[in-house]
Amino acid sequence: MSTELPRYEHYIAGEWVAPAEGGYFASTNPTTAQPWYEAARGTEADVDRAVRAARAAFEAASWRDLSQTARGRLLRRLGDLITENAEDLARTETLDNGKLLREMRSQLAGIPEYFYYYAGYADKIHGEVIPANSTKLLNYTQREPVGVVGAITPWNSPLMLTTAKIAPALAAGNTVVIKPSEHTSASVLKLVPLFEQAGFPPGVVNVVTGFGADAGNALVEHPQVAKLSFTGSTATGSRIAAACGSRFVPVTLELGGKSPNIVFDDADTDSAAMGIVAGIFAAAGQTCIAGSRVFLQRGVYDEVLEKVSARAATIKIGDPLEPETELGPVAFGDQRDKIEEYVRIGREEGGRVLTGGERPDVGLDGYFYSPTVFVDTDNGMRVCQEEIFGPVLTVMPFDTEEEVVALANDTTYGLAAGVWTRDLARAHRLASVLEAGTVWVNTYRAMSPMSPRSGFKQSGVGIEHGTEVLREYTRLKSVWINTDESPARDPFVLGS
Ligand code: NAD
Repeated sequence: MSTELPRYEHYIAGEWVAPAEGGYFASTNPTTAQPWYEAARGTEADVDRAVRAARAAFEAASWRDLSQTARGRLLRRLGDLITENAEDLARTETLDNGKLLREMRSQLAGIPEYFYYYAGYADKIHGEVIPANSTKLLNYTQREPVGVVGAITPWNSPLMLTTAKIAPALAAGNTVVIKPSEHTSASVLKLVPLFEQAGFPPGVVNVVTGFGADAGNALVEHPQVAKLSFTGSTATGSRIAAACGSRFVPVTLELGGKSPNIVFDDADTDSAAMGIVAGIFAAAGQTCIAGSRVFLQRGVYDEVLEKVSARAATIKIGDPLEPETELGPVAFGDQRDKIEEYVRIGREEGGRVLTGGERPDVGLDGYFYSPTVFVDTDNGMRVCQEEIFGPVLTVMPFDTEEEVVALANDTTYGLAAGVWTRDLARAHRLASVLEAGTVWVNTYRAMSPMSPRSGFKQSGVGIEHGTEVLREYTRLKSVWINTDESPARDPFVLGS
């Protein structure tokens, strides 16, 4: 391994800390297929150090006794600092996972909004007085932080997905240990020093880099982690849920998807085609909410398919740093191999590739894959049931609303769904019967810090974004006070 590569250590208690066992691993720029930095390879000892630092910070007066208003102020300052560092953070993530720089700039414009939004909640998290059914008793609740939160994130949007976890966790008064994906450690490592710069005490936010099987697993298993928040694949989520379940550690899981995007005969076909392209080819299909299964009603099938495949065939593939590029590489070599394998499976199952289905020649060594549209597919095929996490779309016709609802819901996932129609009543009917945590009508991919996101079925457990998430990062205590100073009455009768 080259010693000339820049090297990142773990970030623990406000300091860069070398890995206990001394190992590092290289991270590759997917556009060039060249390693571009090394990150510390975290093991159980590193995770233990980070969790202890986070626990110590949780108990320290500098954080515990900070007023809730002051906590909000720190979050706002952090949002400002992210804006000041936006270009560097955006470029770093583009170099790490191949996302378009212009998409990253737009994400960096949105990320501070999450910190501002939860900053506003920091001094509005509280319990309430409960009727005690007696004038001699006072009953109230306290909403408390849980302690150390473990945050494990994937590679497709590291900064955004980390933000969605830590902004509410910190607003509620917790401390955190982040384990980013081994494919994309850099942007989060550039983010974390900004916390101390904003005034957060050291140890409130820590990062241990490394692989899932060692660093990730050690975080899940650590006895001082009071809450786990995971975003990643359903397979890993299931293992984490089992491990947390056995220790009764509450867990939030944001998992995979196989989301339907449904176009009815009465839809605006230009908008629908654009929404389909955005739904599956943005970020080279590497989004959990990818609209990877398209259902077109028979009357617009040919027209919409023609528009989508024509646009897919002209998508400009290339260096994600270039402003005119529309599709960058996928994040790493194994991911492209996985996509290729699914395209092979789809063909073997009887699907026909209308456009794409190959490695494009873009004059770069990176992990590029062309936008691919499959037709002649059946919803039971593996390419229609399993998450590919790449720029691969399956298109299927349908005749009736009833039929398409059954097809759309015929998946183990339930993350998102799109509906394209001008019929208002139908839009509401679909929104209520589709089994998905988010339903978009005549749009796709809209999101905001205010709007809750959840996965139905095997797409997840718990909520992210919005107000509800604050419950995930707090626990509720019920306090009873006896205001009656007369001697106790019958000790053998409840509440007497
Ligand atoms: P992954 O499950 O392979 O890895 C996610 C994270 O978990 C990484 O940090 C990894 O190191 C860690 N990990 C792996 N094994 C572990 C273990 N045994 N114990 C603890 N940690 C472990 O997922 P990925 O391939 O990085 O990400 C892609 C997946 O993420 C897709 O399925 C996608 O749909 C999903 N995703 C979901 C959402 C959502 O909001 N629902 C958002 C983005 C991505």
